[in-house]
Amino acid sequence: MKVLKFGGTSVGTSQRMKDVVKLITDGEQKIVVLSAMSGTTNSLLEICDYLYKKNPEGAFELINALERKYKQHIEELYTTAEWKKTTADFLKEEFNFLRSFTAKSIFTMFEEKIIVGQGEIISTNMVTNYLLEQGYNACLIPALDFMRTDKNGEPDLEYISEKIKVKLDENPDKEIYITQGFICRNAYGEIDNLQRGGSDYTASLIGAAVHASEIQIWTDIDGMHNNDPRFVDKTSPVSHLHFEEAAELAYFGAKILHPTCVQPAKFAGIPVKLLNTMEPSAAGTVISNETEKKKIKAVAAKDNITAIRITSSRMLLAYGFLRKVFDIFEQYKTSIDMVCTAEVGVSVSIDNTTYLDAIVNELKKFGRVEVDQNMCIICVVGDLESQNVGFESKATNALADIPIRMISYGGSNHNISFLIHEEDKKRALQALSDHLFN
Ligand code: ASP
Ligand code: MG
Repeated sequence: MKVLKFGGTSVGTSQRMKDVVKLITDGEQKIVVLSAMSGTTNSLLEICDYLYKKNPEGAFELINALERKYKQHIEELYTTAEWKKTTADFLKEEFNFLRSFTAKSIFTMFEEKIIVGQGEIISTNMVTNYLLEQGYNACLIPALDFMRTDKNGEPDLEYISEKIKVKLDENPDKEIYITQGFICRNAYGEIDNLQRGGSDYTASLIGAAVHASEIQIWTDIDGMHNNDPRFVDKTSPVSHLHFEEAAELAYFGAKILHPTCVQPAKFAGIPVKLLNTMEPSAAGTVISNETEKKKIKAVAAKDNITAIRITSSRMLLAYGFLRKVFDIFEQYKTSIDMVCTAEVGVSVSIDNTTYLDAIVNELKKFGRVEVDQNMCIICVVGDLESQNVGFESKATNALADIPIRMISYGGSNHNISFLIHEEDKKRALQALSDHLFN
């Protein structure tokens, strides 16, 4: 069984939905995870915002505007009066449900979670109805019947595996099982979600739960690129990545994949393919537990980084100094991305500067503190195992003309990171592409 996930843009118009249907009706049995139509989750959140602010009229207007859009989609999607009506009735109920919140006097995060989840409920019903209208052997299995998080808010894979099996057994011999991304229930059975962009996570969890042969994540670009196409000319898709390389890239800026979402697939050893709905025959990117030997794969950049250097002669030959420094970051719940040490000092980089002033204040107890803002981490990933000689120097050579504030290598076998000024980012990314890939 394969699991295929289509994001908001891939189901963003009625035509796109029809394109998705072409891709999923090849006769193979599969589970299809869908996001809400693009823009819908944002609209639903805006509706919630009005309700929080006790402005039911504002919410009411937005709900009506959203309903008008969906009515149009129905006209375009279905050809038969029967399915137009079935779907119109469903939508009417959905939007009346949304409007019912405008008449309530309380509005809390429980209501909010119910509302933001409706986008996926709507898109999956629309696509399932379209499949049925077209005569395909499809059914909808509601994510709220099997997707669940535990008391720590973490997905409960055991529960998910058990319950999805029940759902599949209840609907035997279907070619296509459609379900919602993003939404789930929490440990108390309340409606919840897996955070923004969580549909990828759903797909990865379902893949692990049913021991899928492969998980396909369909978006509107042709896989993960070897550099950021917004800043660099001539980037190209990477055909294969190790899970760790992909996680590193995702964290450091390649927006295509949610960083935590691939974990379940990684642990279950299920390859994840990134494919393009606009160009379905393109190879895309395969992410698996295999490393392609002796290859630098890709480069990504993360902005808005702040570097903090603490220098102190007290650090010389002392132990416990780093712990004291790290304790302060922990105390202020600020995570550190890069660390570089010298005998008389340590530099770290952070991206969350909420508590920067307080952190700097505390650090001053231990040494002289310098802060550099508007920095950028450039992360190079590939088979960078220490036995392979020449790869780190290749990356460093590419940046020969760029002022470098920190270099971090050796934390894993898969990456080397450079901290530079944001203003040098474009130049650095281009230089890396020119030296490493082109
Ligand atoms: N619809 C949700 C969002 O926009 C989940 C997703 O698309 O992955 O964040
Ligand atoms: Mg999305």
